[in-house]
Amino acid sequence: MQDFTLSGGDLVVHLRLRSAVLVCPCGWTSRARYDTSRRRWRHLDLGRYRVLIESDIRRIDCRRCGRVRTEWMPFARPGARHTRDFEDKAAWLTQRMSKRGVAQFLGTTWEKIDTLIRGQVADHLDNDDERLTGLHRLGVDEIAYRKGRKFLTVVTDHDTGRIVHLAEGRTSEALAMFYRRLGPDRQATIEAVSMDMTSIYREPTREHLPHAAICFDPFHVITWAGDSLNAAHTSLTKPARAITVTGLNPAQTWRKIRATLRAAAENLDTTGHAIIEQLRLRHHKLWRAWQLKERLRDLYRTTTATDAATYLKAWITAAKRSRLTGFKALARRIARNFDGIINAITHQLSNSLTEGLNAGIRRIQNRAHGYADLTNLTEMIWLCHGGIPTKPPTQTH
Ligand SMILES: [Zn+2]
Repeated sequence: MQDFTLSGGDLVVHLRLRSAVLVCPCGWTSRARYDTSRRRWRHLDLGRYRVLIESDIRRIDCRRCGRVRTEWMPFARPGARHTRDFEDKAAWLTQRMSKRGVAQFLGTTWEKIDTLIRGQVADHLDNDDERLTGLHRLGVDEIAYRKGRKFLTVVTDHDTGRIVHLAEGRTSEALAMFYRRLGPDRQATIEAVSMDMTSIYREPTREHLPHAAICFDPFHVITWAGDSLNAAHTSLTKPARAITVTGLNPAQTWRKIRATLRAAAENLDTTGHAIIEQLRLRHHKLWRAWQLKERLRDLYRTTTATDAATYLKAWITAAKRSRLTGFKALARRIARNFDGIINAITHQLSNSLTEGLNAGIRRIQNRAHGYADLTNLTEMIWLCHGGIPTKPPTQTH
Protein backbone atom coordinates (compact mmCIF):
# COMPACT_ATOMS: atom_id res chain seq x y z
CA MET A 1 0.00 0.00 0.00
CA GLN A 2 1.47 3.32 -0.97
CA ASP A 3 0.32 6.84 -1.74
CA PHE A 4 1.78 10.06 -3.10
CA THR A 5 1.76 13.71 -2.19
CA LEU A 6 2.85 16.53 -4.42
CA SER A 7 4.33 19.58 -2.74
CA GLY A 8 6.09 22.24 -4.76
CA GLY A 9 8.56 20.42 -7.00
CA ASP A 10 8.64 17.33 -4.78
CA LEU A 11 6.76 14.13 -5.35
CA VAL A 12 6.77 12.23 -2.07
CA VAL A 13 6.05 8.51 -2.23
CA HIS A 14 4.87 7.16 1.12
CA LEU A 15 5.80 3.55 1.77
CA ARG A 16 4.12 1.55 4.52
CA LEU A 17 6.16 -1.15 6.15
CA ARG A 18 4.21 -4.37 6.25
CA SER A 19 6.78 -6.89 7.32
CA ALA A 20 6.65 -7.73 11.01
CA VAL A 21 10.14 -9.17 10.76
CA LEU A 22 12.97 -6.68 11.07
CA VAL A 23 16.27 -7.41 9.31
CA CYS A 24 19.58 -6.05 10.59
CA PRO A 25 22.12 -5.05 7.88
CA CYS A 26 24.21 -7.99 9.20
CA GLY A 27 21.41 -10.44 8.27
CA TRP A 28 20.12 -11.18 11.78
CA THR A 29 16.33 -10.97 12.08
CA SER A 30 14.00 -10.08 14.94
CA ARG A 31 10.39 -9.20 15.65
CA ALA A 32 11.24 -6.88 18.51
CA ARG A 33 11.61 -3.25 17.51
CA TYR A 34 13.71 -0.84 19.53
CA ASP A 35 12.08 2.32 18.19
CA THR A 36 10.65 3.83 14.99
CA SER A 37 11.39 7.04 13.13
CA ARG A 38 10.56 8.45 9.71
CA ARG A 39 13.10 8.95 6.94
CA ARG A 40 13.20 10.25 3.36
CA TRP A 41 15.40 8.97 0.57
CA ARG A 42 16.06 10.87 -2.62
CA HIS A 43 15.10 8.73 -5.63
CA LEU A 44 15.49 9.27 -9.42
CA ASP A 45 13.61 12.31 -10.71
CA LEU A 46 10.33 11.89 -12.52
CA GLY A 47 10.35 14.52 -15.25
CA ARG A 48 10.64 17.86 -13.48
CA TYR A 49 9.67 16.41 -10.10
CA ARG A 50 12.18 15.51 -7.41
CA VAL A 51 11.08 12.10 -6.11
CA LEU A 52 11.43 11.38 -2.40
CA ILE A 53 10.60 8.07 -0.79
CA GLU A 54 9.28 8.40 2.74
CA SER A 55 8.94 5.54 5.13
CA ASP A 56 8.96 4.58 8.75
CA ILE A 57 12.23 2.92 9.62
CA ARG A 58 12.74 0.83 12.71
CA ARG A 59 15.72 0.12 14.86
CA ILE A 60 16.58 -3.22 16.40
CA ASP A 61 18.82 -4.21 19.25
CA CYS A 62 20.84 -6.71 17.22
CA ARG A 63 22.30 -9.56 19.24
CA ARG A 64 24.82 -10.43 16.58
CA CYS A 65 26.13 -6.84 16.18
CA GLY A 66 25.79 -6.22 19.91
CA ARG A 67 24.27 -2.78 19.41
CA VAL A 68 21.18 -0.92 18.23
CA ARG A 69 21.08 -0.70 14.42
CA THR A 70 18.70 0.70 11.84
CA GLU A 71 16.87 -2.02 9.91
CA TRP A 72 17.90 -3.00 6.39
CA MET A 73 15.81 -1.50 3.56
CA PRO A 74 15.75 -3.25 0.18
CA PHE A 75 16.10 -0.06 -1.88
CA ALA A 76 18.97 1.74 -0.09
CA ARG A 77 22.36 1.07 1.43
CA PRO A 78 22.34 1.11 5.26
CA GLY A 79 22.75 4.67 6.44
CA ALA A 80 22.25 6.18 2.97
CA ARG A 81 19.89 9.09 2.28
CA HIS A 82 19.58 8.24 -1.43
CA THR A 83 18.12 5.11 -3.04
CA ARG A 84 20.44 2.58 -4.66
CA ASP A 85 19.12 3.64 -8.08
CA PHE A 86 20.05 7.25 -7.40
CA GLU A 87 23.49 6.23 -6.11
CA ASP A 88 24.12 4.01 -9.13
CA LYS A 89 23.25 6.79 -11.52
CA ALA A 90 25.43 9.30 -9.64
CA ALA A 91 28.36 6.85 -9.56
CA TRP A 92 27.99 6.04 -13.26
CA LEU A 93 28.04 9.74 -14.13
CA THR A 94 30.94 10.50 -11.76
CA GLN A 95 33.05 7.89 -13.55
CA ARG A 96 32.60 10.01 -16.68
CA MET A 97 32.36 13.67 -15.68
CA SER A 98 33.28 16.11 -12.92
CA LYS A 99 31.48 15.88 -9.57
CA ARG A 100 30.35 19.46 -9.98
CA GLY A 101 28.75 18.56 -13.33
CA VAL A 102 27.08 15.47 -11.86
CA ALA A 103 25.72 17.51 -8.93
CA GLN A 104 24.27 20.10 -11.28
CA PHE A 105 22.76 17.47 -13.56
CA LEU A 106 21.14 15.57 -10.68
CA GLY A 107 20.03 18.70 -8.84
CA THR A 108 22.13 18.18 -5.73
CA THR A 109 25.44 19.41 -4.28
CA TRP A 110 28.91 18.03 -4.94
CA GLU A 111 29.31 17.48 -1.20
CA LYS A 112 26.36 15.06 -1.35
CA ILE A 113 27.89 13.35 -4.40
CA ASP A 114 31.13 13.06 -2.40
CA THR A 115 29.38 11.45 0.57
CA LEU A 116 27.55 9.01 -1.65
CA ILE A 117 30.72 7.97 -3.52
CA ARG A 118 32.52 7.59 -0.19
CA GLY A 119 29.81 5.19 1.01
CA GLN A 120 29.97 3.09 -2.14
CA VAL A 121 33.77 2.89 -2.04
CA ALA A 122 33.75 1.99 1.67
CA ASP A 123 31.25 -0.84 0.99
CA HIS A 124 33.46 -2.12 -1.83
CA LEU A 125 36.60 -2.05 0.33
CA ASP A 126 34.82 -3.90 3.15
CA ASN A 127 33.94 -6.72 0.81
CA ASP A 128 37.27 -8.62 0.76
CA ASP A 129 35.66 -11.82 -0.53
CA GLU A 130 34.49 -10.21 -3.73
CA ARG A 131 37.57 -8.04 -4.27
CA LEU A 132 40.41 -10.34 -3.20
CA THR A 133 39.34 -13.90 -4.00
CA GLY A 134 40.55 -15.83 -7.04
CA LEU A 135 43.52 -13.62 -7.95
CA HIS A 136 46.13 -15.27 -10.19
CA ARG A 137 48.30 -12.70 -11.93
CA LEU A 138 49.01 -9.34 -10.31
CA GLY A 139 50.87 -6.20 -11.30
CA VAL A 140 52.46 -3.83 -8.77
CA ASP A 141 53.40 -0.32 -9.73
CA GLU A 142 53.79 3.16 -8.38
CA ILE A 143 51.61 6.01 -9.55
CA ALA A 144 52.69 9.61 -9.21
CA TYR A 145 50.39 12.35 -8.02
CA ARG A 146 50.72 15.95 -6.91
CA LYS A 147 52.87 16.74 -9.96
CA GLY A 148 55.09 13.70 -9.45
CA ARG A 149 56.14 14.61 -5.91
CA LYS A 150 54.08 11.94 -4.15
CA PHE A 151 53.40 8.28 -4.92
CA LEU A 152 50.75 5.63 -4.48
CA THR A 153 51.43 1.90 -4.60
CA VAL A 154 48.88 0.23 -6.86
CA VAL A 155 48.17 -3.50 -7.25
CA THR A 156 46.20 -4.53 -10.33
CA ASP A 157 44.62 -7.83 -11.30
CA HIS A 158 46.00 -8.61 -14.77
CA ASP A 159 43.03 -10.86 -15.57
CA THR A 160 40.26 -8.30 -14.92
CA GLY A 161 42.14 -5.02 -15.22
CA ARG A 162 40.82 -3.95 -11.82
CA ILE A 163 42.74 -2.29 -9.03
CA VAL A 164 42.75 -4.54 -5.97
CA HIS A 165 44.94 -2.50 -3.61
CA LEU A 166 45.90 1.13 -3.25
CA ALA A 167 48.21 2.51 -0.57
CA GLU A 168 50.07 5.73 0.10
CA GLY A 169 53.80 5.79 -0.58
CA ARG A 170 56.32 3.78 -2.59
CA THR A 171 57.46 1.40 0.11
CA SER A 172 57.74 -2.34 0.83
CA GLU A 173 55.21 -1.90 3.63
CA ALA A 174 52.62 -0.41 1.24
CA LEU A 175 52.67 -3.77 -0.58
CA ALA A 176 53.27 -6.05 2.42
CA MET A 177 50.04 -4.83 4.06
CA PHE A 178 48.14 -6.08 1.00
CA TYR A 179 49.74 -9.54 1.14
CA ARG A 180 48.91 -9.81 4.85
CA ARG A 181 45.30 -8.85 4.16
CA LEU A 182 45.06 -11.62 1.53
CA GLY A 183 45.91 -14.29 4.08
CA PRO A 184 47.39 -17.74 3.30
CA ASP A 185 44.49 -19.16 1.22
CA ARG A 186 44.26 -16.20 -1.13
CA GLN A 187 48.05 -15.89 -1.33
CA ALA A 188 48.25 -19.48 -2.54
CA THR A 189 46.32 -18.85 -5.79
CA ILE A 190 48.69 -16.14 -6.99
CA GLU A 191 51.01 -17.45 -9.69
CA ALA A 192 52.83 -14.35 -10.89
CA VAL A 193 53.46 -10.75 -9.90
CA SER A 194 54.83 -8.19 -12.33
CA MET A 195 56.83 -5.19 -11.09
CA ASP A 196 59.76 -2.93 -11.83
CA MET A 197 63.27 -4.10 -10.99
CA THR A 198 63.84 -2.23 -7.73
CA SER A 199 63.90 -4.27 -4.52
CA ILE A 200 61.05 -2.23 -2.94
CA TYR A 201 58.32 -4.57 -4.18
CA ARG A 202 60.51 -7.64 -4.76
CA GLU A 203 61.42 -8.21 -1.11
CA PRO A 204 57.85 -8.32 0.31
CA THR A 205 56.76 -10.52 -2.64
CA ARG A 206 59.54 -13.04 -1.94
CA GLU A 207 58.67 -13.03 1.74
CA HIS A 208 54.88 -13.44 1.50
CA LEU A 209 54.49 -15.23 -1.86
CA PRO A 210 57.61 -17.41 -2.14
CA HIS A 211 55.84 -19.64 -4.71
CA ALA A 212 54.90 -16.83 -7.11
CA ALA A 213 56.98 -15.99 -10.20
CA ILE A 214 58.36 -12.46 -10.07
CA CYS A 215 58.10 -10.87 -13.51
CA PHE A 216 59.82 -7.69 -14.60
CA ASP A 217 57.69 -5.32 -16.63
CA PRO A 218 58.80 -5.19 -20.28
CA PHE A 219 58.23 -1.45 -20.16
CA HIS A 220 61.17 -0.92 -17.78
CA VAL A 221 63.49 -3.20 -19.78
CA ILE A 222 62.73 -1.25 -22.96
CA THR A 223 63.16 2.06 -21.13
CA TRP A 224 66.68 0.98 -20.11
CA ALA A 225 67.53 0.20 -23.74
CA GLY A 226 66.22 3.63 -24.72
CA ASP A 227 68.44 5.25 -22.07
CA SER A 228 71.52 3.37 -23.30
CA LEU A 229 70.76 4.41 -26.88
CA ASN A 230 70.30 8.01 -25.79
CA ALA A 231 73.68 7.91 -24.03
CA ALA A 232 75.29 6.58 -27.22
CA HIS A 233 73.67 9.40 -29.19
CA THR A 234 74.67 12.25 -26.88
CA SER A 235 78.26 10.94 -26.61
CA LEU A 236 78.72 11.56 -30.34
CA THR A 237 79.87 15.02 -31.30
CA LYS A 238 77.46 16.55 -33.76
CA PRO A 239 76.39 13.43 -35.66
CA ALA A 240 74.08 15.59 -37.73
CA ARG A 241 77.05 16.96 -39.65
CA ALA A 242 77.36 13.82 -41.72
CA ILE A 243 73.61 13.28 -41.97
CA THR A 244 71.46 15.38 -44.23
CA VAL A 245 67.70 15.58 -44.33
CA THR A 246 66.14 17.53 -47.19
CA GLY A 247 64.49 20.73 -46.00
CA LEU A 248 65.86 20.64 -42.42
CA ASN A 249 68.59 22.84 -40.89
CA PRO A 250 71.25 21.17 -38.65
CA ALA A 251 69.34 21.77 -35.38
CA GLN A 252 66.12 20.38 -36.84
CA THR A 253 68.07 17.45 -38.27
CA TRP A 254 69.52 16.65 -34.83
CA ARG A 255 66.04 16.64 -33.32
CA LYS A 256 64.71 14.48 -36.13
CA ILE A 257 67.54 11.97 -35.56
CA ARG A 258 66.75 11.87 -31.85
CA ALA A 259 63.04 11.31 -32.52
CA THR A 260 63.86 8.59 -35.08
CA LEU A 261 66.09 6.73 -32.62
CA ARG A 262 63.38 6.84 -29.95
CA ALA A 263 60.58 5.66 -32.21
CA ALA A 264 59.69 2.02 -32.70
CA ALA A 265 61.19 0.72 -35.98
CA GLU A 266 57.76 -0.34 -37.27
CA ASN A 267 56.49 3.24 -36.90
CA LEU A 268 59.25 4.98 -38.86
CA ASP A 269 58.30 7.20 -41.82
CA THR A 270 60.31 7.47 -45.06
CA THR A 271 62.63 10.14 -43.59
CA GLY A 272 63.15 7.95 -40.52
CA HIS A 273 64.18 4.99 -42.67
CA ALA A 274 66.54 7.26 -44.67
CA ILE A 275 68.15 8.49 -41.42
CA ILE A 276 68.69 4.94 -40.14
CA GLU A 277 70.30 4.01 -43.48
CA GLN A 278 72.64 7.03 -43.31
CA LEU A 279 73.55 6.13 -39.72
CA ARG A 280 74.41 2.60 -40.84
CA LEU A 281 76.83 3.99 -43.45
CA ARG A 282 78.34 6.93 -41.53
CA HIS A 283 77.79 6.34 -37.81
CA HIS A 284 78.03 2.62 -37.51
CA LYS A 285 78.39 2.62 -33.73
CA LEU A 286 75.20 4.60 -33.18
CA TRP A 287 73.43 2.40 -35.71
CA ARG A 288 74.58 -0.67 -33.75
CA ALA A 289 73.13 0.87 -30.58
CA TRP A 290 69.81 1.46 -32.34
CA GLN A 291 69.83 -2.11 -33.60
CA LEU A 292 70.47 -3.48 -30.10
CA LYS A 293 67.49 -1.51 -28.76
CA GLU A 294 65.25 -2.86 -31.53
CA ARG A 295 66.50 -6.42 -31.05
CA LEU A 296 65.69 -6.19 -27.34
CA ARG A 297 62.16 -5.03 -28.21
CA ASP A 298 61.85 -8.12 -30.43
CA LEU A 299 62.42 -10.29 -27.35
CA TYR A 300 58.75 -9.68 -26.53
CA ARG A 301 57.69 -11.16 -29.87
CA THR A 302 59.09 -14.56 -28.92
CA THR A 303 56.36 -16.89 -27.75
CA THR A 304 57.86 -19.65 -25.61
CA ALA A 305 60.05 -19.40 -22.53
CA THR A 306 62.74 -21.56 -24.18
CA ASP A 307 62.86 -19.38 -27.31
CA ALA A 308 62.93 -16.24 -25.18
CA ALA A 309 65.81 -17.52 -23.01
CA THR A 310 67.89 -18.50 -26.07
CA TYR A 311 67.14 -15.17 -27.73
CA LEU A 312 68.01 -13.12 -24.63
CA LYS A 313 71.30 -14.99 -24.09
CA ALA A 314 72.30 -14.19 -27.67
CA TRP A 315 71.33 -10.55 -27.13
CA ILE A 316 73.47 -10.31 -23.97
CA THR A 317 76.48 -11.71 -25.89
CA ALA A 318 75.98 -9.21 -28.73
CA ALA A 319 75.59 -6.27 -26.31
CA LYS A 320 78.74 -7.27 -24.40
CA ARG A 321 80.71 -7.35 -27.66
CA SER A 322 79.29 -4.04 -28.88
CA ARG A 323 82.01 -1.75 -27.46
CA LEU A 324 79.19 0.58 -26.43
CA THR A 325 79.63 1.42 -22.72
CA GLY A 326 75.90 1.90 -22.09
CA PHE A 327 74.92 -1.39 -23.70
CA LYS A 328 77.71 -3.36 -22.01
CA ALA A 329 76.36 -2.14 -18.66
CA LEU A 330 72.81 -2.94 -19.78
CA ALA A 331 73.89 -6.48 -20.73
CA ARG A 332 75.19 -7.03 -17.19
CA ARG A 333 72.01 -5.60 -15.68
CA ILE A 334 69.82 -7.81 -17.84
CA ALA A 335 71.92 -10.90 -17.02
CA ARG A 336 71.37 -10.17 -13.32
CA ASN A 337 67.58 -9.94 -13.83
CA PHE A 338 67.37 -12.73 -16.43
CA ASP A 339 64.74 -14.93 -14.74
CA GLY A 340 62.37 -12.06 -13.99
CA ILE A 341 62.52 -10.87 -17.62
CA ILE A 342 61.81 -14.37 -18.97
CA ASN A 343 59.02 -14.90 -16.39
CA ALA A 344 57.12 -11.95 -17.85
CA ILE A 345 57.10 -13.74 -21.23
CA THR A 346 56.14 -17.12 -19.72
CA HIS A 347 53.19 -15.55 -17.86
CA GLN A 348 52.40 -13.19 -20.76
CA LEU A 349 52.41 -10.13 -18.56
CA SER A 350 52.81 -6.77 -20.17
CA ASN A 351 52.74 -3.24 -18.90
CA SER A 352 49.86 -2.15 -21.14
CA LEU A 353 47.49 -2.44 -18.19
CA THR A 354 49.48 -0.08 -15.99
CA GLU A 355 49.91 2.34 -18.88
CA GLY A 356 46.16 2.49 -19.39
CA LEU A 357 45.66 2.94 -15.67
CA ASN A 358 48.19 5.76 -15.51
CA ALA A 359 46.36 7.53 -18.31
CA GLY A 360 43.05 7.05 -16.49
CA ILE A 361 44.46 8.47 -13.27
CA ARG A 362 45.83 11.49 -15.12
CA ARG A 363 42.34 12.07 -16.53
CA ILE A 364 40.85 11.91 -13.02
CA GLN A 365 43.39 14.43 -11.76
CA ASN A 366 42.84 16.80 -14.69
CA ARG A 367 39.08 16.69 -14.27
CA ALA A 368 39.33 17.74 -10.63
CA HIS A 369 42.24 20.18 -10.94
CA GLY A 370 44.78 17.92 -9.29
CA TYR A 371 42.76 16.51 -6.37
CA ALA A 372 44.71 18.19 -3.60
CA ASP A 373 42.97 15.86 -1.16
CA LEU A 374 44.44 12.35 -1.24
CA THR A 375 41.25 10.76 0.12
CA ASN A 376 39.24 12.20 -2.76
CA LEU A 377 41.82 11.07 -5.29
CA THR A 378 41.94 7.48 -4.00
CA GLU A 379 38.13 7.31 -3.86
CA MET A 380 37.92 8.41 -7.47
CA ILE A 381 40.57 5.84 -8.48
CA TRP A 382 38.56 3.11 -6.72
CA LEU A 383 35.34 4.29 -8.34
CA CYS A 384 36.77 4.43 -11.87
CA HIS A 385 39.22 1.49 -11.78
CA GLY A 386 38.24 -0.69 -8.84
CA GLY A 387 35.46 -2.62 -10.57
CA ILE A 388 32.67 -1.08 -8.48
CA PRO A 389 29.52 -2.11 -10.34
CA THR A 390 27.47 0.83 -11.56
CA LYS A 391 24.51 0.83 -13.88
CA PRO A 392 24.21 3.27 -16.77
CA PRO A 393 21.17 5.56 -16.34
CA THR A 394 19.29 3.87 -19.18
CA GLN A 395 19.72 0.34 -17.86
CA THR A 396 16.89 -0.54 -15.51
CA HIS A 397 17.90 -4.08 -14.52
ZN1 LIG B 1 23.25 -6.99 13.23
